[in-house]
Amino acid sequence: MIIIKTDAQISLMRKAGKVVAETLRMIGENLKPGITTSEIDRLAEEYILSQGCQPAFKGYHGFPASTCISIDDEVVHGIPGKRMLVEGQIVSVDLGVIYNGYYGDSAATFPIGKISPEKMKLLEVTRRSLEAGISEARAGNKLGKVSNAVQILAESAGFSVVRDLVGHGIGRAMHEDPQIPNYGSPEEGPVMEKGMVLAIEPMVNMGDYKVQTKADGWTIVTVDGAPSAHFEHTVAVTENGADILTI
Ligand code: MG
Ligand code: MG
Repeated sequence: MIIIKTDAQISLMRKAGKVVAETLRMIGENLKPGITTSEIDRLAEEYILSQGCQPAFKGYHGFPASTCISIDDEVVHGIPGKRMLVEGQIVSVDLGVIYNGYYGDSAATFPIGKISPEKMKLLEVTRRSLEAGISEARAGNKLGKVSNAVQILAESAGFSVVRDLVGHGIGRAMHEDPQIPNYGSPEEGPVMEKGMVLAIEPMVNMGDYKVQTKADGWTIVTVDGAPSAHFEHTVAVTENGADILTI
């Protein structure tokens, strides 16, 4: 069941989303060779708490940190730890916050220092595939239009979209209906309505789309070891298009 949000609920979600966006921006400024992923996580958690919000990921199904930090061939759900960032890596940071019971969720992939042209293209294409998906999120459109727009943009650049993980509705829970695949027919899925709030999140691989879970039980990696990127926004559906809450 897809839960429709009132304008008042969406304004609470906008506050959550704003703190998510501010945290991601602050993290982006601090990502550099030599910083450890647990230091990044601590910066994020401190900022989220300072804004009167709670980190949504910490304790979620037992996840031990406030952010997911995934490097190179890690797609999503990387656990912060003692690893130091190294020039040439791409680093995906995914985070959520709770404000007055409402969730916001966003992710971005950042370059560490100078990266290869192939990795730069992967980041740009993944960001543009999110924008393409968001541009189809409007009342009256089928949800499949979002999924299809993401897939077409990513695959036409020679990349693949992860099939095993999806975007999601969001509200008083981090994961609500509907599921939002990053591939599929524009004719599929429910018709979007004003008041739906969606976390759209393409995960795009440089190589094959297949992924697997590492022995830590959390980290998702590409099977072929090629790099992967992830961008996500939480958006509210309106008659005129998507209202991005995580900016
Ligand atoms: Mg997320
Ligand atoms: Mg999400």
